[in-house]
Amino acid sequence: MKKIGIILFTSDLRLHDNAPVLQAIKENDEVIPLYCWDENYMNSEQFGFKRMGDIRRGFLQKALEDLHQGFKSIGGYLLVKKGNQFEVIQELLTHYSVYKIYTKKQVGIEEKRENERLKKMLLTKGVDFEEYSTSTVYHPSDLPFSMSSIPEIFTKFRKIVEKEASVRQSLPVPQSISCPLIRNDVQELNSLNYVLAVDERNSLPAFGGESMSLKHLNAYLFFGKHILHYKETRNELLGSAFSSKLSHWLALGCISPKFIYHEVKRFEYEVESNDSTYWLIFELLWRDFFRFSFKKHPIDYFQLHGILGRSERKETNDPKLIESWINGETPNAFVNAAMKELKLTGWTSNRMRQIVASYFIYDLEQDWRIGAAYFESQLIDYDVSSNWGNWAYIAGVGNDPRAGRKFNTEKQEEQYDKNKRYQVLWNKV
Ligand SMILES: Cc1cc2nc3c(=O)[nH]c(=O)nc-3n(C[C@H](O)[C@H](O)[C@H](O)COP(=O)(O)OP(=O)(O)OC[C@H]3O[C@@H](n4cnc5c(N)ncnc54)[C@H](O)[C@@H]3O)c2cc1C
Repeated sequence: MKKIGIILFTSDLRLHDNAPVLQAIKENDEVIPLYCWDENYMNSEQFGFKRMGDIRRGFLQKALEDLHQGFKSIGGYLLVKKGNQFEVIQELLTHYSVYKIYTKKQVGIEEKRENERLKKMLLTKGVDFEEYSTSTVYHPSDLPFSMSSIPEIFTKFRKIVEKEASVRQSLPVPQSISCPLIRNDVQELNSLNYVLAVDERNSLPAFGGESMSLKHLNAYLFFGKHILHYKETRNELLGSAFSSKLSHWLALGCISPKFIYHEVKRFEYEVESNDSTYWLIFELLWRDFFRFSFKKHPIDYFQLHGILGRSERKETNDPKLIESWINGETPNAFVNAAMKELKLTGWTSNRMRQIVASYFIYDLEQDWRIGAAYFESQLIDYDVSSNWGNWAYIAGVGNDPRAGRKFNTEKQEEQYDKNKRYQVLWNKV
């Protein structure tokens, strides 16, 4: 009898540097690469916002199409099925004698619970379940501390990690795969029809999946050499190259953070190394830091008082004020510009995210978790730990040695949008 494995994709929609993909191909005669499109989860609400808005769905669909093409090029396919992973896999087990499920280790508490539920069900059916850490620059097992003793402050974390840990090599793209024949009517990828409307003012240069993300990285580094100015430009608000614009691909795992790390190192070796090239890795370390901190505090980041357990934050919820913020109709034109950009494109720069989050928390005095839930629904690059971790940080209930970050919008405007180019561009909607 043929040995069959299932690769369960949740994110990590790529072929390069993907341990579960390689392992599944190595251990089985045939492999089913599977993605479960779970509308119920996407539509489930948090503070009145859908978990996943249309912009992210459109992008996700493109990333899945690209992954399907990637598998096709090595002799397989990506099977997309609508429904919850638990039910979809239960159904597949009635057709195939599966040996093992290979998937990534989750960081969000609900996703972790889903994996636990699946694992229990599989145990009763004699199917193995293996999880892999695939989403960070540093592998969790290579950290010089246990998850429970991760420092609460980024600088401390970074200094220890930079001194004592090293980054593993990226894994190669598999050369071939053998997948069982499936009926055409089982494949539901073609029935997804989200259209990703692209606003011509969008700062994001490109969408698509893994293949486009790799081209983009190469262009950002070796062709445009934009990384040489990253540290000076990263706080700008307009344009396609002031920051790397990799976050949406990182969020879905179309590109591996470890791969980016090694490409930056290659650039430093072959072209030039300066403060800016280091700084991109520095920012990727922030991403790692939030992910590892989430493993330490899986529930607290979603609580009003965050990881501190107590604070001055209140459960305020004024629907009119919140609507005005979302629609870019507050008395503050600078904030409004960013909220319109976010609404239309699913993206705004790091600087503007900080400013609008601070405005929501300290000027409108609303419960920070409502702002975070709106971002979760709306951001094309939504990532559970980067989003909730940054919101908690600004609200003063996260990993900040200070008690919160209130941004003075007038000063910020003076520094980053003195000639009002950004406001004029987005407020003319
Ligand atoms: C309130 C708020 C919410 C945020 N929500 C998210 C989110 O859901 N998903 C997300 O990917 N980023 C989030 N960020 C972080 C940051 O704004 C984006 O990663 C960045 O703007 C994406 O653009 P870029 O890829 O050009 O970033 P670059 O400046 O080029 O940075 C390179 C990469 O480093 C990582 N990075 C940079 N800054 C941060 C940071 N502050 N925290 C964590 N990682 C960082 C990202 O993966 C980014 O792609 C949030 C920031 C704030 C203030």
